[in-house]
Amino acid sequence: MKTLHTDIAVIGAGTAGLAAYRAARAAGKRALLIEGGPYGTTCARVGCMPSKLLIAAAEAAHQAAHAEAFGVHVSGDIAVDGAEVMARVKRERDRFVGFVLEGVENIPAQDKLRGYARFVSDTVLRVDDHTEVHASRVVIATGSRPSVPPPLRDLGDRLVLNDDVFEWNDLPARVAVFGPGVIGLELGQALARLGVDVRVFGVSGSLGGISDPAVRQSARRIFQREFYLDPDARVLDTRRVGDEVEVRYVALDNSERTERFDYALVATGRRPNVDGLGLEHTTLALNAQGVPAFDRDTLQAGDSPIFIAGDANADAPLLHEAADEGRIAGENAARFPDVRKGLRRAPLAVVFSDPQIAVAGAAHARLAPGTFVTGEVDFGDQGRSRVMLKNRGLLHVYADIATGRFLGAEMIGPSAEHIGHLLAWAVQQELTVARMLEMPFYHPVVEEGLRTALRDAAGKLAQARAALREEEETPA
Ligand SMILES: Cc1cc2nc3c(=O)[nH]c(=O)nc-3n(C[C@H](O)[C@H](O)[C@H](O)COP(=O)(O)OP(=O)(O)OC[C@H]3O[C@@H](n4cnc5c(N)ncnc54)[C@H](O)[C@@H]3O)c2cc1C
Repeated sequence: MKTLHTDIAVIGAGTAGLAAYRAARAAGKRALLIEGGPYGTTCARVGCMPSKLLIAAAEAAHQAAHAEAFGVHVSGDIAVDGAEVMARVKRERDRFVGFVLEGVENIPAQDKLRGYARFVSDTVLRVDDHTEVHASRVVIATGSRPSVPPPLRDLGDRLVLNDDVFEWNDLPARVAVFGPGVIGLELGQALARLGVDVRVFGVSGSLGGISDPAVRQSARRIFQREFYLDPDARVLDTRRVGDEVEVRYVALDNSERTERFDYALVATGRRPNVDGLGLEHTTLALNAQGVPAFDRDTLQAGDSPIFIAGDANADAPLLHEAADEGRIAGENAARFPDVRKGLRRAPLAVVFSDPQIAVAGAAHARLAPGTFVTGEVDFGDQGRSRVMLKNRGLLHVYADIATGRFLGAEMIGPSAEHIGHLLAWAVQQELTVARMLEMPFYHPVVEEGLRTALRDAAGKLAQARAALREEEETPA
């Protein structure tokens, strides 16, 4: 067994780990980047990028198939060549991965160690069975992995995860998708638009990470018009029959159905990769998920020399958050014990479905009932959206009654990725609804829909405040 000494050991060379390593080196410390799996990051290899590539192909197919409404006729049938679609997804994916690999290659060899790390104590790690690493601080950046519910585990190679989809050489004919969260919804809709016969099954009604019941209902109706989606499905049985997956379920019309699929695509959530880290050998307090208690501003676990960043801490499993957290964890590991709060941005999450979904600032579920008003716009009659035949969806904006401050928003609708940014920026700037309405709105743009929702919120704020004043002035 070899022994290595370093200032900062970073476990995991994904987005968070690479950012942590770079921050630690920039602060003048020795750092060791330990990676057990393939280099290239989850985002580039099997996450953000290949999923958006598949969605781009699906959008092209969808637009070609729906050009008629504009008087544009594509002659003949729209043919989707699954092999060509997957070849482009992989080719472009490999290009993105290539940039990450170049970055990793540029890291000096003595700063990299291959193998899976486990804690022996707070500052000693064992990497596979070949190296013991003594570090004065450790950054955990081990990412997350799909969690597969027990009934689906017996499907063998007919059970596929997001990683497997991007290895396909051709598109299958029929796929059952389990889990209409962000990943299941994005991949399920993309496959459906590429001609795959898709059924999407969920539990307890959750859909695309939307917490506002009205926005979720709008999303449900929109997607159900396009492909089979039951966010509250009663799946009675799943089993493997030959090379197929048989699913017995109660359909939306309450009839019992048995159908066969080429694959079951399981997207039922992700769990942080902390269970195999030997955290029981550390002094860290763990929560119910087994994740060390940590401070989201410093990324420090308790007052220990251990920091935890990215999907591994299960706080905000998104790419930009992983990059921020990695940097903050790396900087603070270098400064330890004099740790400082890093910049945390306003929350922003986008689902690249069509229409897109965005949650900016405080989600509806996080707001205290009775303290806020909801401004609304239905995109059904929104001018520019209708011009483009994208007039579907609902935006809810939330404003604080006491201060008039804009708190957050949830939406499904056109240009949600862009409107979500505007709204997250407004939250971070702590703008009031009145200040937001002083900003320019061009004509004709989808953002005019946002203005309608803000005006609605402003009106409701005035009403709510008038009601409060009346209450205060009424003698008891
Ligand atoms: C299909 C899909 C689509 C997505 N789309 C988006 C999107 O559009 N936008 C967005 O913001 N986010 C998206 N995400 C989420 C985003 O990809 C993640 O939040 C981000 O990649 C997490 O980065 P990370 O550094 O925490 O983890 P990773 O990049 O997964 O890095 C963790 C690394 O740690 C290594 N490791 C684990 N355990 C050990 C150990 N014990 N020892 C050594 N090494 C170890 C792993 O091999 C891995 O390389 C998507 C995710 C998926 C799966």
